[in-house]
Amino acid sequence: MFDAGTTCLVVVGAQWGDEGKGKLVDVLAERADVVVRYQGGANAGHTVVIGDSQFILRQIPSGILHPGVVCVVGNGVVLEPETFFAELDHLAQRQVDTTGRIFVSDRAHLVLPYHKLLDAASEKSQKLGTTGRGIGPAYEDKYGRRGIRVTDLRRLECARALLAAGVERANRLLELMGSSERASFEEHAALLERLAPRLVPLAADAGLLVHRAVREGRRVLLEGAQGSLLDVDHGTYPYVTSSNTTAGGAAVGAGIGPTLIHGVLGVVKAYTTRVGNGPLPTEAPSPFGEQLRQLGGEFGAVTGRPRRCGWFDATVVRYAARVNGLTGLAVTKLDVLDTFDEIPVCTAYALGADRCEEMPAEVELLGHVRPQYEVLPGWRRPTGSARRLADLPAEARAYLDRLQALSGVPARYVSVGTRRDQIIEVEG
Ligand code: GDP
Repeated sequence: MFDAGTTCLVVVGAQWGDEGKGKLVDVLAERADVVVRYQGGANAGHTVVIGDSQFILRQIPSGILHPGVVCVVGNGVVLEPETFFAELDHLAQRQVDTTGRIFVSDRAHLVLPYHKLLDAASEKSQKLGTTGRGIGPAYEDKYGRRGIRVTDLRRLECARALLAAGVERANRLLELMGSSERASFEEHAALLERLAPRLVPLAADAGLLVHRAVREGRRVLLEGAQGSLLDVDHGTYPYVTSSNTTAGGAAVGAGIGPTLIHGVLGVVKAYTTRVGNGPLPTEAPSPFGEQLRQLGGEFGAVTGRPRRCGWFDATVVRYAARVNGLTGLAVTKLDVLDTFDEIPVCTAYALGADRCEEMPAEVELLGHVRPQYEVLPGWRRPTGSARRLADLPAEARAYLDRLQALSGVPARYVSVGTRRDQIIEVEG
C-alpha cells in the first residue's frame, strides 16, 4: 500500500485480535524504513514464520526481522523490560542483528512485577480473561499519574522514590483484595538498577524520531497490537484491553499528529476468533468451531489458550472500518476455509424483532443478538499456492468479493498461508 503519497501507514487488527498482523507487518516491513509499536504490552504476541523458523514477538515490532529497518517502541506501549531484553537476546542468538536500530520511547511506561501481582489478584474477583501480565494495572498507574516511565531510569534516585510509593500502594491493594502476595521494594529496586544501564541507551524521543522520518518521506508503519473490538473505548467493554488499539491510538501512541497518517490497513481473518471472555455472536457450533481451531492453529501465541472460533462477522468489520477509518483490508487465513463445503457469513444481527446493523454499546445485548447468515459455497481446493487473485478458485474470489462489499472496504492483501511468500497483493 506504500506509494508516493502514502508513506505513513497504520496496521490495525479489525476483529478481536490475532488476525495475523505480525505476518502483514513482516511482509510490509520489507518496503518500510521504520516500524513503530504504538500500544499494548507483552500480552500480545505476533507470530512471524520465516522459512522453518517461527518468531514470537511480544514487545519488539515485527519489522525487526528485516535488516536495516528501524524499530521503535512508542510512548503508548507499556514496556515489560525483562521480556523486551529476553526477546532482544533471543533475536541475537538467532543471528538477527538489532544493533543501532531499536529505540524505546522515553515516555513509555514500565510494567513491573507488582503490576503482575495486582493483575492476578484482580482477575480473581473480576474475570475478564486477561493474560495476567500486569498490563491493565500498568495502564491504571499511567492514567492515575503515578507510573514509572523509561525516562525515570535516567535518574535512579527519582525512580526509587516512585518505586517506593508504587510498591507501598500495590501492597495495600493486595491486602485489600485478600491476596497473600506482597511486593518487595528491594527486589524491585535491584531490578531497576540492573535494567537501567541497558535500557537508558535505547531511550529516545520517539515521537520526534517518527515525525522526522515521515517528514523526510521515509516509509513508516505504525503497528497495533490486539484488535479493534478490544479497544478500551470502542471494544466490547469491559472485555477489552487497557489501551486504544484503533487507528486514533496510533497517532497518540507513536507521538505524531494524526495528519501525518496517510492510510489505515485493517487486518481481518476470513473468519472470526476471540480469546478470553465476552460475547462472540458468530461462534460456530460443533464440529465447525473445532475444525476452524485445528485448521487455523487457533491457540494463543503467548498463553497457548484455545481461541473461540466462528464465522466472518461483517457487522464487526463494518464497525471496525468506521472507527478506524480503514482505507484497505488485508484478509488473512483464507486457506483455513479450503475444506469447508459451505461458509456462512454474518451480514447483520437481529435483536428481538429488529434488524441491527451496528455494534451495540452494551455487551449484554451483543450476547443476545442473532446473527443473520448468508451461506456461500466453499471452494474445496487448496489456495496456499495462489499468488494472484486469478489463481484462486471462483468461489474463493466470490467469497472475498462478498466480504469486501459487506465491509465497505477494498481488500489490498489476501494471505493464504503462514509463509512470507504466501500472499496476494491486490492491484490498486
Ligand atoms: P497477530 O497478533 O495478529 O499477529 O496474530 P497471531 O500472531 O496470532 O498470528 C496468527 C497466526 O496465524 C500465526 O501463527 C501466523 O503464522 C498465522 N497466519 C498468518 N497468516 C496466515 C494465513 O494466511 N494462513 C494461515 N494458515 N496462517 C496464517
